[in-house]
Amino acid sequence: MGSDFASLEGKLALVTGASRGIGRAVAEELARAGASVVVGYRSGKAEAEGLAAAIGGRAVQADVSSPDDAKRLVEEAGDVDVLVNNAGLTRDGLLARMPDDDWRTVIETNLSSVFYTCRAVTRPMMKKRGGSIVNISSIVGVHGNWGQTNYAASKAGIIGFTKSIARELGSRNVRANVVAPGYVKTALTEVLPDEATAAMVSQTPLGRVAEPEEIAGAVRFLASDQASFITGEVLLVDGGLGM
Ligand code: NAP
Repeated sequence: MGSDFASLEGKLALVTGASRGIGRAVAEELARAGASVVVGYRSGKAEAEGLAAAIGGRAVQADVSSPDDAKRLVEEAGDVDVLVNNAGLTRDGLLARMPDDDWRTVIETNLSSVFYTCRAVTRPMMKKRGGSIVNISSIVGVHGNWGQTNYAASKAGIIGFTKSIARELGSRNVRANVVAPGYVKTALTEVLPDEATAAMVSQTPLGRVAEPEEIAGAVRFLASDQASFITGEVLLVDGGLGM
């Protein structure tokens, strides 16, 4: 049973990249809110299946950078009420030396995937006149970052894309919003040098990095009817870093 605040009782939620990190915390939080959750994953089968069993959901494998796989993921998920596009990766490097493949992999995984899954849920959501899409961007998509031209472009693209679908789908009561995290403790950031983490923390008013669960609460709110008049919004969850 979910609590009353930001309840998702009776809703079906699909979360991409839910085998670990932020996606995993989001899947757990949406399940706590009462949703049935489809745990999307690419390679973390054991983790995804373990999580699905723990939260009474289902795990579905798909590489969301592939249009066919992304479409199949949405179809296998069922009648999706809440779509959370969280799958993402980094291939950092300076622009002058960036291989084409690092550019394409990041754009296709982080941005094209959002296009594929959103396109697949659009008709069914419009038809039932309801749905909530939450796309995970990053503070880097708002401010840019040294060594992350590909990642910043993908995350900024998510913001423009989401505002556009918010305009296209609003009249059918389908909402689309962005959560843009700051620095969160996950596998994605543990590879960064300690000095980079320390520099980020020193510029963050709350003076620390976030736990994945702190991103999940914002996603739950935007996904729920508690946010019924919020669409096209970009919610920074960054400890004040980007203000
Ligand atoms: P993470 O721990 O590395 O997890 C990434 C997840 O994405 C994994 O579940 C992975 O699945 C999945 N994934 C990657 N490529 C995929 C593909 N092609 N198809 C399907 N799934 C794929 O990263 P995280 O830190 O939780 O990041 C989650 C999201 O938050 C990303 O979009 C990231 O850009 C964003 N974000 C993170 C931070 C941060 O500080 N951590 C800050 C801002 C934004 P498998 O493991 O199953 O392959």
